[in-house]
Amino acid sequence: MDGQTVVVTGASRGIGRAVALELATAGAHVVLCARDRAGLEATADTIEEQGGSVTYKRADVRDEFDVEYLMEKAATVGGEIDGVVANAGVYHGDAGNTPLDTESYSAFDDHIQTNARGVFVTLREAIPHLSDDARLLVTSGTVARKTASGYGSYAVSKAAAEAVARGFAADSDYEVCVVDPGVVETSLTGATGHDPDTVAEQFRWALEEAPSEYFDGSVIDRRTFRTESR
Ligand code: NAP
Repeated sequence: MDGQTVVVTGASRGIGRAVALELATAGAHVVLCARDRAGLEATADTIEEQGGSVTYKRADVRDEFDVEYLMEKAATVGGEIDGVVANAGVYHGDAGNTPLDTESYSAFDDHIQTNARGVFVTLREAIPHLSDDARLLVTSGTVARKTASGYGSYAVSKAAAEAVARGFAADSDYEVCVVDPGVVETSLTGATGHDPDTVAEQFRWALEEAPSEYFDGSVIDRRTFRTESR
């Protein structure tokens, strides 16, 4: 990915951090954001220690002006943006134990604001700075598509995020897909799952090698990745 610039939101920990490391190791200049400056610095320090190229900026995806500035900075330091991983996300409560019928209004609102509107903001603000063949990825999970009890408004927000991906695939000139890494052991799930480092390759493959047919807003899940990348 030498010479490419890729923006990763939510890169202070978890999946975003692992994806940033993977892309930097593959040669990309990665531009990272999250709200926690210390976490971002730690990710950037690790990338630099490993010889990678990184820029980071504290930005909240709920704030379009933060994200507008992030994308301007990415284009300034890296030239046109070749890839975006709209990954920042929150889960309010214990994963799988937040049923919709007792969900708080504040949790509902912030899930939508961060996980759905945040993806809209990220892709919308990236568009003026994209290279012609840029690829845009949205991180999501099966609860966005399948009925599962206990995932409340988090699942609602991820379904909306996937609809945002399909909308941009339909209405913009760019290739857009959803990447579903399966269950990953992060602070969001707090439980078992894949090591974030083992799912990062799926994102690199989606940016670099996945067939164009998936970039109509379709989902690249673990099975698709394993089958197609052989
Ligand atoms: P995580 O470890 O909690 O990481 C979430 C990241 O998003 C952090 O870097 C966090 O940093 C950032 N973030 C949260 N709110 C933000 C905001 N308003 N603005 C900017 N950054 C923000 O969780 P994760 O599991 O890696 O989740 C990453 C993505 O994967 C999410 O979209 C999630 O829905 C999705 N996903 C996760 C799983 C799983 O099993 N873990 C499965 C499928 C999909 P700050 O707190 O510093 O802002």
